[in-house]
Amino acid sequence: MTERRRKFYAWGFEDQSATPEEMKPVLDTWHRTFEVDAFDVKPAPTLDTIDMPESRITHFPEAIKDICRTDRYERALHSYGRSFLDSAKMFRGDFRNAPDVVAYPRNEEDVRALIDWAGDIGAAVIPFGGGSSVVGGVNPEINGTYAGVVTIDMWYLNKILEFDPVSRSARVQAGVYGPDLETQLKTHNVTLRHYPQSFELSTLGGWIATRAAGHYATHGTYIDDYVENIRMVSPSGISESRRLPASGAGPSPDRYVMGTEGSVGIITEAWIRVLSRIKHKASKTVTFAEYDQGVEAVRAISQAGLYPANCRLIDALEAKLTGAFDGSRPILVLGYESSHYPVDHLMDLTVELCREFGGTPVDEAEQGRNSVAGQWRNAFIRGPYYREHMTSRGICRETFETAVCWNNFKELHSSVIETVNAAIKRVTGRAGTVTCRFTHVYPNGPAPYFTFHCLPDRERMGEQCMEIKIAAYDAVMKAGGTITHHHAVGRLHMPWYEKQRPAPIGAAFTAAKKSLDPKSIMNPGVIISEQRGNP
Ligand SMILES: Cc1cc2nc3c(=O)[nH]c(=O)nc-3n(C[C@H](O)[C@H](O)[C@H](O)COP(=O)(O)OP(=O)(O)OC[C@H]3O[C@@H](n4cnc5c(N)ncnc54)[C@H](O)[C@@H]3O)c2cc1C
Repeated sequence: MTERRRKFYAWGFEDQSATPEEMKPVLDTWHRTFEVDAFDVKPAPTLDTIDMPESRITHFPEAIKDICRTDRYERALHSYGRSFLDSAKMFRGDFRNAPDVVAYPRNEEDVRALIDWAGDIGAAVIPFGGGSSVVGGVNPEINGTYAGVVTIDMWYLNKILEFDPVSRSARVQAGVYGPDLETQLKTHNVTLRHYPQSFELSTLGGWIATRAAGHYATHGTYIDDYVENIRMVSPSGISESRRLPASGAGPSPDRYVMGTEGSVGIITEAWIRVLSRIKHKASKTVTFAEYDQGVEAVRAISQAGLYPANCRLIDALEAKLTGAFDGSRPILVLGYESSHYPVDHLMDLTVELCREFGGTPVDEAEQGRNSVAGQWRNAFIRGPYYREHMTSRGICRETFETAVCWNNFKELHSSVIETVNAAIKRVTGRAGTVTCRFTHVYPNGPAPYFTFHCLPDRERMGEQCMEIKIAAYDAVMKAGGTITHHHAVGRLHMPWYEKQRPAPIGAAFTAAKKSLDPKSIMNPGVIISEQRGNP
């Protein structure tokens, strides 16, 4: 159905892959780190060998039969998101949870017809954007009593429908992928500049549904800040909020819909606030002798009203593993950008502030795209393509992220690093690595993002990774962090999310779901744990 096919078991399209030259330094790092001469390479899964049951749904009404698919490729492609846990299951050939049907609506009428039909036959519905969820948001792992699972892929709803140059806003269909959205915005000489790491393969609807965070480290971190209104098809009907720059009229309907992760309806379009194209940029990398000096410098920057676009404190080990720096020091990658005014003076002020905390800017020759920050940026953008090569060699690379107030940061950081290192050793029987960087920073606290690598038992990669993640999540919550800053809740984070969410608000969200989705068919198990037929 899709013209250029996405890889069903890994990041990217079928014509894309990390090259052997690109993978060599990455794999060399892991040979050295794990002291392994050669990894045993397991082949990628193939459509004819994977374990997938027959579809339970075989009859389709005339109005939708042409947009529904039940072939193995489509069902495999929509079986998982793109976390390591997903990758481990895919490499095991386990597609037993495949959706029964994958539907490709061509317009909003189709979305309505599909939701109505699923309600009539008692099937669950999973909205699908780019499928880049790392929290099981699109995985058809459903416990309730359903006649089957219908995944609705928004691929064809990918156009800018209107542009308002006066308010500088655009009305956009939810299924548009990041690069396509920017290409279309460029024709109006504007940009959204919302760049999550998954930008290439995630959609506007997915960003809004999960409250994604983009590349802005401060100010406008979440997609929320760019949403002017939302139009959503729920089983109870269409809900569309008024286009407004702001409104104090009671609880915000948009703020309710954002973060519902497909559990009450499908976002079909939104008006988004866009920006003039960027004309001025500055970037610098600063190093610190001690990690704590970097932390204090970032706290000072975040509280000084400077608001850099990029403010990533990367610990010494992560800087080394990504090839950005030599591992002797943490690095702080700073950036400013503006459509209207030069930003060099802001960078100068920020670097001066860093010096007060012992920061040293790296040599001029090492600044810029081809050096420290450039190397890190390259690893960041290409990283998703490395995963299949790591999983096939039995290397677990997984991430988790949080946000915490500054007063609790140091304790959270040290207890999480200690807990995860210990869990890796206990679970896999050998040491691994745990690293941390800040993805976003607020005046009252950072959003630390942790990455761990380990060599689990080949037959139990997913299970062992999950054991480590449970220890990590418990440590994050105990130290006062949130279960997620931007990866969303999905199915994976539900137990911790339910602990974090105040119970009366949980009850109110459950009531809201019952009103919008009376048959409980929308993405069961996500945000609201109750499912159809559960006691
Ligand atoms: C390599 C990698 C890097 C990532 N980097 C970031 C990052 O920098 N920042 C960040 O925030 N996240 C990041 N993520 C997580 C993920 O990309 C985000 O959650 C993203 O917003 C998901 O968008 P999507 O279109 O792929 O949605 P999907 O993965 O398809 O869906 C995510 C959830 O939203 C629901 N959904 C999707 N579309 C709609 C719709 N139109 N209406 C209603 N519900 C819908 C789905 O049912 C599901 O619950 C990353 C993931 C990967 C794999």
